[in-house]
Amino acid sequence: MENVNDMAGETLIPKRAGRDEEQHSMSAVAEKKTTTWEQELNPWEAQAARFDEAARRLNLDNGIWKLLRSPSREIIVHIPVAMDDGSIEVFTGYRVQHSISRGPGKGGVRYAPDVSLDEVRALASWMTWKCAVVNIPFGGAKGGVICDPKNMSQGELERMTRRYTASLIEFIGPEKDVPAPDMNTNEQTMAWIMDTYSMHMGQTVTAVTTGKPVSLGGSRGRREATGRGVQVCTDQALKHFNMDPKETTVVVQGFGNVGSNSAKLLWDQGYKIVWVSEYDGGISNPEGLDISELLEWKAKHGHIHGFPGSKPEDKDAWISAECDVLIPAATENVITSKNAGLIKAKILVEGANGPTTTVADEIMAEKGIFVVPDILANAGGVTTSYFEWVQDRMGYFWTEAEVNERLTRIMVDSFHDVLQYAISHGVNNRIAAYMLAIDRVAYTTKQRGIYA
Ligand code: NAD
Repeated sequence: MENVNDMAGETLIPKRAGRDEEQHSMSAVAEKKTTTWEQELNPWEAQAARFDEAARRLNLDNGIWKLLRSPSREIIVHIPVAMDDGSIEVFTGYRVQHSISRGPGKGGVRYAPDVSLDEVRALASWMTWKCAVVNIPFGGAKGGVICDPKNMSQGELERMTRRYTASLIEFIGPEKDVPAPDMNTNEQTMAWIMDTYSMHMGQTVTAVTTGKPVSLGGSRGRREATGRGVQVCTDQALKHFNMDPKETTVVVQGFGNVGSNSAKLLWDQGYKIVWVSEYDGGISNPEGLDISELLEWKAKHGHIHGFPGSKPEDKDAWISAECDVLIPAATENVITSKNAGLIKAKILVEGANGPTTTVADEIMAEKGIFVVPDILANAGGVTTSYFEWVQDRMGYFWTEAEVNERLTRIMVDSFHDVLQYAISHGVNNRIAAYMLAIDRVAYTTKQRGIYA
């Protein structure tokens, strides 16, 4: 373990500054604009810019501002793993716990070559705000390991996952911090984490992770949950504009868990999915793609390309496609100052975390695009993770219909909470979602008080 950093954040303000001076300093932080391309693409900067903007509008207490601006704990581990060829590889992993004010930390684990501490920090903070937007009793956390999972065997991935879990054993747990899947991790990864944790505890502890296989304490409906939340938000946005799903065209970027489930659930309701894009190119059909068949095609071929009746498209062309609804469901920073001006959609529903940079937000606002921000739009996943955690602790499992009904109710209510907040405070949906979340977290933080 290299660095365990409790309650970081003291460096933001000089220690001896007086109250007025401090308030001025935090407002100055809030007014700082991201300028360079590097800053625009830094997810932590993007998160912090939105946080500062929302905190300023809330007139947030200066001490709470400092406290919530930084993660409460950042853990870095270097994990030795025996590779299949007999060599030893050492991987760097992170777990960042942003806030446990409203409940245990909650957040996914990501495996990718470009994982960085700043990215994990941003994702951990987004989890705090996301859980607060949908009003579930979790804080925010996130984990990641720098690795290239596509070039690792199942055995190597299992050994890496187990060693990563063992390195974090004292920091995770059903009442402490509950990991879940994210990019390149899945139900199997969660089963390994749960089993490793259970071996250390000497008993089976299913509630230590969510997103597990249903046979190991997973929740029915979890696999589709993030996509279902995206679908509910899209439905609500359409109602807001008095639009008909059957007359609505949709473009989806990313055809993994979130993208494919969003596309399938929208297609089931009669939306026309006219374009699906992946990292290596897209496919389109102005009459609409048959998503059920596309899922089968991808399962069989491992990719979407060559799907009968579709036209191949350049990997970056999805952004300017003719459509009513655009759903980025792949990764961060795909809508930037360089391409936001090309968007033709009226509605953007962010399935991915952090797909839009702050500069792109301004461009989209000028174009009058209605944005359903990530911390609302993709909160269906963590909401059903909360259901899974509840079911594991009860030892009593719900039907899929019960899960979906409860999820839909929370998503509909949260959508309208954010919209109402935006209207009453005269801010855009993203800042409204941050304000609502920060207000809720600040409230419990003040109620709990500062432990000394
Ligand atoms: P995934 O790995 O299942 O799918 C990601 C898909 O996007 C893959 O098909 C991949 O090929 C594609 N992709 C990756 N980079 C791309 C690029 N640059 N351009 C186009 N396509 C690209 O991951 P996922 O679980 O679907 O997660 C997608 C996003 O949604 C991430 O931002 C994740 O943090 C977020 N998210 C996921 C969940 C969840 O429950 N899985 C919940 C909330 C948010």
